[in-house]
Amino acid sequence: MGIVLTNALLVDLDPPNVELTSLRIDHGMIVERGRNVDANDADEVIDCGGCMVLPGLVNGHTHLYSALASGMPAPGESITNFHDVLKYVWWRLDRALDGDAVEMSALVGAVHAIRCGTTTLIDHHASPSCISESLDRVENGIDRVGLRAVLCYETTDRNGTAGREAGLAENRRFLEKCSKSGDHKFAGLVGGHACFTLDDASLASMADQAEKFDTGVHLHVAEDPVDDAICRERYGHSLLDRLNKHNLITSRAVFAHGTHLPDDAIAQFNQTRPALAHNPRSNMNNAVGYTRIGDISCPIMLGTDGIGADMFTEAHVAWLKSRDGSAGQSPAQIVSMLVASARRASQALGVQLGSLQPDHAADIVITDFLPATPLDAENVVAQFIFAFSSQHVRHVIARGEWAMRDRMIASVDESAVRIEAQDVARSIWSRMQSLD
Ligand SMILES: [Zn+2]
Repeated sequence: MGIVLTNALLVDLDPPNVELTSLRIDHGMIVERGRNVDANDADEVIDCGGCMVLPGLVNGHTHLYSALASGMPAPGESITNFHDVLKYVWWRLDRALDGDAVEMSALVGAVHAIRCGTTTLIDHHASPSCISESLDRVENGIDRVGLRAVLCYETTDRNGTAGREAGLAENRRFLEKCSKSGDHKFAGLVGGHACFTLDDASLASMADQAEKFDTGVHLHVAEDPVDDAICRERYGHSLLDRLNKHNLITSRAVFAHGTHLPDDAIAQFNQTRPALAHNPRSNMNNAVGYTRIGDISCPIMLGTDGIGADMFTEAHVAWLKSRDGSAGQSPAQIVSMLVASARRASQALGVQLGSLQPDHAADIVITDFLPATPLDAENVVAQFIFAFSSQHVRHVIARGEWAMRDRMIASVDESAVRIEAQDVARSIWSRMQSLD
């Protein structure tokens, strides 16, 4: 049985296009588009009432493990810099997670994503107390509500050699599993925290894995000056030299932040073209500064770095930050970050996301947004920044199936999930109190 969307104001971003027409989806794919689309007898027909329909959005960098962090007690220690934020907040949270907490965090984060029209997540996971098979728990949480994701485990040396080896093993296990499944729902990258918590043996192992699986690393890079400073102090080389020594800068790499990339690193990124995830709300929250996006020409994705999954809000903030700062980006440049996220996720998953054209994946957001001003291919990027919002997301189709209908999550009882999640959050927060 297929689904036919009629009277739909189809909005594409890659390239920008607006058309009031019909769409037919079947077997997880968009199969037909145009005014003459005929519904089969068995098809479900949805009249979109002339409202906006978008491709599902992609979050280019997130941490679902932090989905149950909202409202948690502030650390007792005083936080004076970015390293303190990691040490007393996130590295305490990730150590407090057990397998059930990992899965519940992923589920709650995925439900939130659906409500925002985000259908694919590029996630960076850490749970040092339960590393083995943790990516399966993340996958289970996401799979329960029918989204897609590109997952990795955040390898690090900060929990000793055994922790490092377990992280590498988890990435390898998940990559092997994904290479066999071929279902275009989940894919892997080779995850690592950041060069300043990874020694040379760890970086070399990550590079080997990336080559073996024909993929890239997913790494925080230059989020704060501490990354380069500790690389020089502890390992005797700059951050850029260490990335180069291990051939980690490739077109398949996913780097997050790049907030403090020096000129020579930016020149190399522009030439080699890894995907760089820009996370403006997180950067402001951590007071780590602003990425020089105006100087960077490699694909820049948009990510939330764990602050929810609302890509409309993240784009809006990216725009405002760019105007308030020195980058002065155009709406088209901000929206191109969402396009870059969809392209990179498509590459990893082996399916075409981010467009409402035939032969693309049926990951579709149906809104109740009727534009109050003319909306066309020329101004759609500006409308995205100033008029579109996640509050208009009404139905979501992901992987060709209903993920949300009339704002009700299709496959789980959201109220029950949220009530159960409160107990899980209490347990996580309680365990955090006993960690140093
Ligand atoms: Zn991050």
